[in-house]
Amino acid sequence: MQQSNLLATPAASRHPFLPRPDRSVAWVCWHSARGSWFLVLIHVGALASLAVSTTLVHWLLLPAFLAMRGLVTTVGYHRYFAHRSFKTSRLFQFILAALCCANLQRGPLYWAAIHRHHHRHSDCPDDAHSPVRGSFFWAYCGWMFASLEEPDWGSVRDLTRFPELVWLERLWLVPGLLLATACWLVGGWGLLCVGFCLSAVLALHVASLVNTVGHLVGSRRYATGDGSRNSFLLAMVTFGDGWHNNHHQYPHAAQAGFFWWEIDGSFRLIRLLGLLGVVWDIRRVPPHKLHPRERRSPETESTLEANARVGGLSSGTPA
Ligand SMILES: [Zn+2]
Ligand SMILES: [Zn+2]
Repeated sequence: MQQSNLLATPAASRHPFLPRPDRSVAWVCWHSARGSWFLVLIHVGALASLAVSTTLVHWLLLPAFLAMRGLVTTVGYHRYFAHRSFKTSRLFQFILAALCCANLQRGPLYWAAIHRHHHRHSDCPDDAHSPVRGSFFWAYCGWMFASLEEPDWGSVRDLTRFPELVWLERLWLVPGLLLATACWLVGGWGLLCVGFCLSAVLALHVASLVNTVGHLVGSRRYATGDGSRNSFLLAMVTFGDGWHNNHHQYPHAAQAGFFWWEIDGSFRLIRLLGLLGVVWDIRRVPPHKLHPRERRSPETESTLEANARVGGLSSGTPA
């Protein structure tokens, strides 16, 4: 795969819509359209839910589709492919990747590469989707519609050593097309629009909420040097990923909720899969590391946050 340009260029020239001598307006439009037409299509399909003939069953299936999409994204793309927080068989790894692809959030290698980049440069100038650094709109969805650059494929060498994942990365639209076809055959346009498109759109927007609200609203337990925050409401709609400050402190842990009141549906599913023997070596945070080593005054905390926003430098003390 082609090596990254985006992640190796200076921050000042990073924004894809900044004029560059080697890129015409037509080139930018073509690549933007090529990288986001499927996003437009599922939004059109979701809107069509209001126009096509639907049944009560179609709408009752919507939460099931949504739960499936949410959990495969958090457990599969996020905690497994991006952070390798547990181990599994090669077969289940492929199944997980295929299920994730059906969410139409690109392939497993792309998702993992972009997300690892986010963790390396959280709320720094290089962060592809920081609501602290850039505009809320750009962090929420703009960056997805202007995916002009290749991600840093070198950052996912642990995944590219599996030929079947590289193959799936090239054909990442296929699982989504198969699921859409199955929905159409079983439930007609109603199930295609409500079950497939609307659930995919809602799952996409929930993922965008983590990228944005997860760095703006909520409390901070750890001084992570970025804007990450813990939010109960966000955690409820993201199956635990809303404990975002916890996650930024210990990104390789399979758990994002650290205490009993921090409900983490994804971790519960991972533990269940562990009990069934489907996954193993589940990475957890040792209990003695859950509490921040030092309590900082509100003034110190706000100063550290301001420094992080200005310089993007880590201010945290590892717990
Ligand atoms: Zn984050
Ligand atoms: Zn993460």
